[in-house]
Amino acid sequence: MAMEEARSANPTTRMTRRSLIGAAVLAPVAPLKLAAACVPAPLGTAHTLPIGTAGGLFTGFKTYPRALPLAPREVILSFDDGPATTTPAILSALACEDVKATFFMIGRNVAGNPGLARRVREAGHTVASHSWSHPWTFRNLSVEAGKADIEKGFAVLNETVFSLPASTPPPVPFFRYPGFADTQPLNDWLAAKNIGVFGCDLWASDWNAMTPQTQLSLTLERLEKAGRGHILFHDTRAQTAAMLPNFLRTLKERNYRMVNMVPGPGTSDTRPAPAGWTSETEAIIAGKRG
Ligand SMILES: [Zn+2]
Repeated sequence: MAMEEARSANPTTRMTRRSLIGAAVLAPVAPLKLAAACVPAPLGTAHTLPIGTAGGLFTGFKTYPRALPLAPREVILSFDDGPATTTPAILSALACEDVKATFFMIGRNVAGNPGLARRVREAGHTVASHSWSHPWTFRNLSVEAGKADIEKGFAVLNETVFSLPASTPPPVPFFRYPGFADTQPLNDWLAAKNIGVFGCDLWASDWNAMTPQTQLSLTLERLEKAGRGHILFHDTRAQTAAMLPNFLRTLKERNYRMVNMVPGPGTSDTRPAPAGWTSETEAIIAGKRG
């Protein structure tokens, strides 16, 4: 990532590039610190949403004109790029509020922190893949190299988290592209393997350094505007770990309902984008590459 950034002369471009990459770093695992105090009336998980990906599924309004079928004030949380040193604090905050989330893990981080990766699953969260090496981007790889990276990402989850042979079809067939930079050949290939591609509906912009309070306000403002949605965070970010308890408390106060997405049968229904929809991530990627 550093080399990529160094080659980018334009500060705006550099920030955009950084924004889509997130913090894809290998990090040692810190000992678990137990939550200091848990809340008396936790937010909880309102319901589990089985997501069927047979024949492929492409959701998340930032990238695709379809979203997961959430009702008003329903929220899905996902965390990218871990596991990392900050993941235990994220797990503690979620446990305190009895909220389940989806973790899109980088395969090489799973290999570096196998115990922590397993712990995420053992806590009841959905463990999905965010590739093996977080390439920037899949559009700069050959199709074969892209397939190999995706397969390796799922293989390490199979072996490390699910105790399955590497080549078994993934028990959680959920994939998120780094930077949302998909390609048609890989999309077609994933669909043929019944693997769903997950974007998101809104994000916390937690790739940008800001105080936890600022990030809290920004994320709540975006959620209030959207009214529902699948929110992207990064469990590699200390500021996200710091704001998460307050964020979940506020969702409770504002009567949001948490939804836990899990693998399901068939092909899920989706919710269409409003008229005039365009892909925000495509515009970012196109601008960056231009
Ligand atoms: Zn990422």
